[in-house]
Amino acid sequence: MLLLTCPNCGVEADETELSAGGQAHLKRFAAGSSDDEFESYLFHRSNAKGVHFERWRHSYGCGKWFLAARDTNTLEVFGTYPAQTPEPPKDLIAAIKKKRPDWKGFAK
Ligand SMILES: [Zn+2]
Repeated sequence: MLLLTCPNCGVEADETELSAGGQAHLKRFAAGSSDDEFESYLFHRSNAKGVHFERWRHSYGCGKWFLAARDTNTLEVFGTYPAQTPEPPKDLIAAIKKKRPDWKGFAK
């Protein structure tokens, strides 16, 4: 079972209370961008087997969005943080690198 702590209300929620929102930290492209940039924004996702940064919504709780770093292979959760955070917090990156020395790092 996947358990994530909502950083907005502090509740540790299981996956039945949450809605997945896809990959976090996508760079958004709109009018004026190239076709390749817009295609990448719409269709290309990392689909990592391992450390992944994701958007989640506490649907059956406070209803707010947040971001989480977890291992998609083992379901180990490294941490959650507010959705308004433009990049993963440095302390979270350090914790992931400590547990996963082979991890290549966060890529935008
Ligand atoms: Zn919440």
